[in-house]
Amino acid sequence: MADNVLAAIRGGATIVHLDVMDGHFVPNLTIGPPIVKWLRPVTEATFDVHLMIENADQFIPDFAAAGANWISVHQEACVHLNRTLELIREHGCKPGVVINPATPVETLTEVLDLVNLVLVMSVNPGFGGQKFIRGSLRKIAHLAKLREERGLNFRIEVDGGVAKDTVADVVRAGAELLVAGSAVFDGHDITANARNLLKAAQAAAPESKLAGVVRA
Ligand code: ZN
Repeated sequence: MADNVLAAIRGGATIVHLDVMDGHFVPNLTIGPPIVKWLRPVTEATFDVHLMIENADQFIPDFAAAGANWISVHQEACVHLNRTLELIREHGCKPGVVINPATPVETLTEVLDLVNLVLVMSVNPGFGGQKFIRGSLRKIAHLAKLREERGLNFRIEVDGGVAKDTVADVVRAGAELLVAGSAVFDGHDITANARNLLKAAQAAAPESKLAGVVRA
């Protein structure tokens, strides 16, 4: 895992996106705070922890202590979303909010001024290697417009199916943080995969402040 992360960073990735699944909110189980803590000394890159779990409040302190820089939670999984975002900030991390493909942007109206990033899921969360859902492009553009209208400065991240054939549309819609899993880690040359994907993104939106993100 450490070797793969470092290979992607050599290809231009600047953020390590960690998908945390609990087998309840999403039908899969992945990593917990010990893995984040173990990976922390490997790189100084920002750790972007995406919690796909119920009871996020219970685990936020552990992920912060393990070395998370950013922590994002799902709108659909947090009954007291405002409180949860504040809790993330209290633990020294930058808060983000995530919406699933079926969740409209309008559900975030009251929290857009509290977040560092909004993550638009472009697949239904749970597994890697899924096909990009094109309706998410409209949501990214909508968020970019709302941000401008309200003079806010959250960043727009997209997660799921970001690959060579979709990345141009994603950045043209307004996303700046691109999470890539299969597109970077499948095949034998992770560094070249990351470099080529970032190059394709930059070519599509030369003015955008893009950041390459890899999913660990
Ligand atoms: Zn994710």
